Amino acid sequence: MALAWATRAIETSGEASLTNYSEFLSLAPATHVAEIIERSSWSCAHGVGRWSTDCGCRMRAGSSQAWRGPLRSALDGLRSRIDAFFERSANDVFMDPWVARDAYIDVVLDRSVDSTARFLSAHGRGRLAGSDAQRALELMELERFAMLMFTSCGWFFDDVDGLETTQILEYAGRAIDLATRLGAQDVVSDFEDALALARPSGGAVSAREVFQRRVAAAQVDAERVAAHVAVAALVGSPDVFDSSAHAVEVEDLATSGQPGTRPLLATGRVVVRHRFTSSAEARAFAVLHEEDLVFAGVTTRGDATLPLEHLHALARAGESGSLRTLLESVDGARVTSIGDLLPDAQGRITVPPPLRSYAGLTKDCVVIGANSRVEIWDAAAWQEYLEGTEQDFADADEEVLPGLF
Ligand SMILES: [Zn+2]
Repeated sequence: MALAWATRAIETSGEASLTNYSEFLSLAPATHVAEIIERSSWSCAHGVGRWSTDCGCRMRAGSSQAWRGPLRSALDGLRSRIDAFFERSANDVFMDPWVARDAYIDVVLDRSVDSTARFLSAHGRGRLAGSDAQRALELMELERFAMLMFTSCGWFFDDVDGLETTQILEYAGRAIDLATRLGAQDVVSDFEDALALARPSGGAVSAREVFQRRVAAAQVDAERVAAHVAVAALVGSPDVFDSSAHAVEVEDLATSGQPGTRPLLATGRVVVRHRFTSSAEARAFAVLHEEDLVFAGVTTRGDATLPLEHLHALARAGESGSLRTLLESVDGARVTSIGDLLPDAQGRITVPPPLRSYAGLTKDCVVIGANSRVEIWDAAAWQEYLEGTEQDFADADEEVLPGLF
């Protein structure tokens, strides 16, 4: 609003006229050639200090950026190990791995099948197909994330746990995932120890905490997607999870029991395909909805089998306890719960109907939270709870927390 008002005021005053860069350039063509001085920037008077040292450039007086240098060292170390692994491995599939890395921008800008095939035939060693083509593309994605983790805004702002720094650590996490999948044994090495040194002076939170709490939690692997689908199959639509990175297919979905009654059982298979590299992983799942908030289930690797007939027979007979015991006995299974639901590509979570009715959510809601947990309450129920709690505190005749109450 303020900007709209300001531009209209400038235009109507006749003091200046609004233009754009191309119009200005055609009216006033360049008269000098400028050369950019290496290791200089517009937003730091210390060259590129802002991206490698605690140079004093910041938004907020009094804040500490002692974390910037160590963060840079930690990522430099990770990048060196990734690049060494890339050089050792990519020669099998590319004629010149670094030339291919630079040319991969064409695939990043156009991810169609044709564009990818053109890239592989121009740079691949021989005719790459099947697992070789997949490996080649994963190596390219590895290098892409090893560059993304140096996105400059990760160092630009004041705080080590800000949005931008968290984002570059997520890129680093994805690079580590890819390197590990490709067989690199030593890329992680002392990365987390190096991140521990990246903290503001006197600050409690280092880049390691950010990496462990936020990045590790945000990583979505096939196991996690399968767990999401398993729970979503019972409380809504199983295909709600779809991201720019993964395509999810659900096969052999079967349910036993009547919707709205308990127990309700869903079984099926989930195939998670990575869009950029075509790699795919499959998981089988069985999940049981016992009571309002109680879900229990398992996901297993594709080659493990679940006793499907037995499970469905127990569900039809309403034998919740035996079902749970049988699920818990499945070898190598991962237990799923309502907490496995993932946000969608826009970061939204659908509150499933059973939870909405449990919490009585109809119209006005209150969202409260602490640390990594949020609670969503019906507004009237929250008010009632608060009034009751306040009365409890008022009635307490001894100090609840010494010195506080
Ligand atoms: Zn500076």
